[in-house]
Amino acid sequence: MPADPEKQHLIVGAGLAGCLLAWRLHGVGARVRLIGSASRPSAFRVAAGVINPVTGRWMTKSWNFDSLLPVAETTYRETETALGIGVYHPIPGIRFCQNADDVKRLGRRLRNPRYANVLGNRLPPGEASPLFRDAHGAFEIESAAYVDLPELVDALRRFFKREGLYDDVTFRYDALGNRDGLWHYQGIDAATVIFCEGAAVVENPWFDWVGLHPAKGETLLCESSSLQLPHTLFHHKKWLLPYPDGRFRIGATYDEADLSWEPTEASRAALLGDAQAALVAPHRIDVIHHLAGIRPGTADSRPILGPHPHLAGLYLLNGLGSKGAMTAPAMVRELSEHLLAQKKIDAEVDLRRFV
Ligand SMILES: Cc1cc2nc3c(=O)[nH]c(=O)nc-3n(C[C@H](O)[C@H](O)[C@H](O)COP(=O)(O)OP(=O)(O)OC[C@H]3O[C@@H](n4cnc5c(N)ncnc54)[C@H](O)[C@@H]3O)c2cc1C
Repeated sequence: MPADPEKQHLIVGAGLAGCLLAWRLHGVGARVRLIGSASRPSAFRVAAGVINPVTGRWMTKSWNFDSLLPVAETTYRETETALGIGVYHPIPGIRFCQNADDVKRLGRRLRNPRYANVLGNRLPPGEASPLFRDAHGAFEIESAAYVDLPELVDALRRFFKREGLYDDVTFRYDALGNRDGLWHYQGIDAATVIFCEGAAVVENPWFDWVGLHPAKGETLLCESSSLQLPHTLFHHKKWLLPYPDGRFRIGATYDEADLSWEPTEASRAALLGDAQAALVAPHRIDVIHHLAGIRPGTADSRPILGPHPHLAGLYLLNGLGSKGAMTAPAMVRELSEHLLAQKKIDAEVDLRRFV
């Protein structure tokens, strides 16, 4: 995919989407400038980065999992090698059935060949783990992983900073103008401006109409002297994700009404309550960090990307919702191929579905 070296791409928002896009474009020789602000809130800093092929109340296979996962794994492994970081961590998964309906649903999923590569053994009650209540049985989830998104994004920001291509500032929309077909922003001339602001796209005067369906989420980073979790992602009513240092994360809440970035006492109590209720014995759990953020979801739970319908040179990459770790690499590839080789954007993620 040859890049036009004369053409500069200005990327706004140095979060998961923006940093991966800058990395990919830079990697094929395109000229990029990245603007983001470390002092503004970011979803990637709150996210556990879990890639889970079977999710939600209905235990359904994640959208396009089989095609998204290989792109994600390749992308994260490439950044690990190039930047000397370790961010992609495969992990076995166990999900506990909550009631008789879950048990029936699991039976259907196990008979469905589409689930063959993501579901492992069915585990009768009591077999999955001595730590968790298990009245209805459980099942193994395969191909799960978690991505250390803060480590990844911070490493990419440091890389672009060293190259002199990253400005750690808040982007001011009123300072962007167009002259003779080029976009100008505080001394930067760009043929394209790609907005990757996550939930903050509501402040963007050119793309505020896309109508995100944002949802707040909160997680707790915890430690416990008595609760030692094995290297497994446990999904009861909430999930518990253990880290190699013995700490673990509990998550996540989901709230479409309160869209503030502040953690709440009610969510902390709910997360701790659900975790304790899932455990056979009570444990003292100490909260080290309590984080809150906004997931940039969409009405149809699909990413949203592509050119502005009327203004040439303006683009959007957003709508990664609660699955950015899995979807961002493939969406970055999709948009890059459109930018550099005019490849048609897949209709399912094309922003024109909202025009
Ligand atoms: C509680 C919670 C748990 C989650 N758990 C998971 C999970 O387990 N797995 C998973 O895959 N996903 C998870 N997510 C979702 C994941 O965080 C998002 O899908 C992903 O971060 C979206 O990436 P993004 O780059 O679009 O947005 P962000 O990560 O929010 O990045 C956008 C960036 O743009 C910056 N920005 C915005 N406006 C401006 C401006 N004017 N000037 C400068 N900078 C600006 C922001 O500050 C931010 O740094 C979770 C989210 C939450 C809130």
